Order: sequence, then C-alpha cells, then structure tokens
Amino acid sequence: MKPRRFEFHNPDHLDEIWELAEKYEDDFMFYAGGTEAIIGLKERVIDVGHVINVKNIPELSAIRVEDGVLRIGALVTHQEIADSELVQSVLPSYAALSNNVANIRVRNAGTLAGNLCFAEPNADPPAMLAALNAYVELCSSDGKRQVHIREFFDGPYTTVREDHEFLSEIAIPVSDKNQFSVYRKIVYLNRPSAGVAVVRNTAQPHGNWEVWAGSLTGVPERMNQLCAYLNDGQALSEAGLLEVAQQDTVEWDVLDGVYGSVDYRKHLATVLAARGVMESIG
Ligand SMILES: Cc1cc2nc3c(=O)[nH]c(=O)nc-3n(C[C@H](O)[C@H](O)[C@H](O)COP(=O)(O)OP(=O)(O)OC[C@H]3O[C@@H](n4cnc5c(N)ncnc54)[C@H](O)[C@@H]3O)c2cc1C
Repeated sequence: MKPRRFEFHNPDHLDEIWELAEKYEDDFMFYAGGTEAIIGLKERVIDVGHVINVKNIPELSAIRVEDGVLRIGALVTHQEIADSELVQSVLPSYAALSNNVANIRVRNAGTLAGNLCFAEPNADPPAMLAALNAYVELCSSDGKRQVHIREFFDGPYTTVREDHEFLSEIAIPVSDKNQFSVYRKIVYLNRPSAGVAVVRNTAQPHGNWEVWAGSLTGVPERMNQLCAYLNDGQALSEAGLLEVAQQDTVEWDVLDGVYGSVDYRKHLATVLAARGVMESIG
C-alpha cells in the first residue's frame, strides 16, 4: 500500500519542532530513523498529513555523561550507542544490549528515542532502562518534563507521552561504581520473545536487586517476588530462583502471537531471570 499524501517538514531548530507540532496538532508525526514510521505510513496504520523530520538538529545527536547521568540524545541510533566508547566504559551492558537490537540495517537507522516512543511491545530497551531507573525528557512549547521509564509505557504502542511532546533525551544514572547489570533475551524473527534485565549493587550482597522482564505484556514488568527474595538475602539456588521467578509470571497478561505462546514466553522469562541472577553473582 502507498502512504497517504503528506507534507514533509525539515526544521533545523528545536523551537521549530514545537511550533510545527502545535500547528498541526493531531495531524502530524515525528520522523527520526524511519524504521517503524515508514512501515506505519505505508500500511496506513499511521495516517497523518504532516511528517516532521527531526534529523537536522545536531544537538540531538550527543551522548554525554553529566553529574553521574548518561545522557543519550533523541537522534542517537542503537549502533552509535553500541559503538560509543563512553557507553562501553560507563555502562557496558547497555552497549551490549544495543549491539544486539534487531539487525545491522535497523540498528544503523533506528534511534533509541524512536524505539521508546513507538512502544512496540517486543523491544529490548524498556526492561533494561526500567531496571536501571532511567528517565526521559519530554519537551514541547509548554516546557520540559521528566518521566521515569517505569511510568512511561501504558501498554502496547501506548505511552504517557502527549502527541505534541518530543522526547529529547534518555537519561540513565551511572554514578554507582558498584552497580552490575546484565540483559538476556531470546529472539525470534528479529525481535525478542522475552528479555530480562538484572541490576544489583555488588557492595551490598543482599540489597538493591532490580529484576525486570520485557517484551511480554507491552510494559516492562518488575519481578516483585524475585526482587523481594533476593533483597531478603535468601540462600540462592537455581531451583529456588526458578520457583520464585515463575510465581512472578503468573499474574502477567502476556501477549499471544507470532513471538510465542503465553506459557512459552512466561517460561522464557522465568529461565532468563534465574540465569541473569546467577550470572550477576558470578
Ligand atoms: C525488522 C525490525 C526488527 C526489529 N528488532 C528489534 C529488536 O530486536 N529489539 C528492539 O528493541 N527493537 C527492534 N526493532 C525496533 C527498532 O528498535 C525501532 O524500529 C527503532 O529504534 C525506531 O527508531 P526510529 O528512529 O527508526 O523511529 P521512527 O520510525 O522514525 O519513529 C517511530 C515512532 O516514534 C516517534 N518518534 C521518533 N522519535 C521521536 C522523538 N524523539 N520524540 C517523539 N516521538 C518520536 C515517531 O513519530 C514514530 O511514531 C526492530 C524494528 C524492525 C523494523
């Protein structure tokens, strides 16, 4: 199918983005790498009269660390994150995650910001960013607000971002030198069927565990029972971890479909969580 005719706008200042977004209200979309946008426009799942290309704004391409926070601009692609020496040094697990998103073609064009805003349920970043307690900055002519990734997703393809808000930056705290993190997933047809992120503080053996599962329900899911079990300082065994992790999956409303049955994906999350924890404790 061909997309509906639309006008393509090329702002080269952030202010122009806000002006255009305000002017065209609900008849526009932002366009970054285009990896999801093109498909949506062609299939007419996205039906808008105006496309605002944001790729001509250099300040959105920065990766930097400021005050213990890794800041990734809206135009930074997955491959740029994977190849960034800065990310590799301050958060190697996130560089590794980025290096395994999709395929090289998608990684080279697709941005992390676009991934989060599109909110496709089979995605790697949300669980890991939730476990790392990351947040995003949303900007519009009304000003700027911060939203934690843990509160950003509302469900498949839905976030708390208003249409006119532009996600300008992803911010990940990296000041804790004792933090260890790992992300593990099982992939089918280029996308994860399930992914689990484990974050812990190596200086506090029984504290600060965060285990989050993704690609299952449309929002990152905290594995509350597993976190409580780990934070209680229970003696760890793989069998015990599997049992507790499995309990976490019981209440989840997992999406059924091409990426696997509900039971299979719950099983994947259980196994990935247990493995991630075992890996975290060496
Ligand atoms: C074949 C294939 C395989 C994939 N496999 C994986 C995978 O294994 N793991 C994974 O995590 N992801 C996967 N993806 C998703 C991929 O990560 C995203 O397509 C990509 O990151 C989207 O970024 P983009 O810059 O291309 O966004 P675009 O396509 O340009 O935009 C996507 C949406 O986000 C909006 N948008 C973009 N940027 C902003 C912004 N800054 N502020 C507000 N709204 C914005 C657009 O309006 C649009 O609605 C896959 C995609 C494809 C096509």
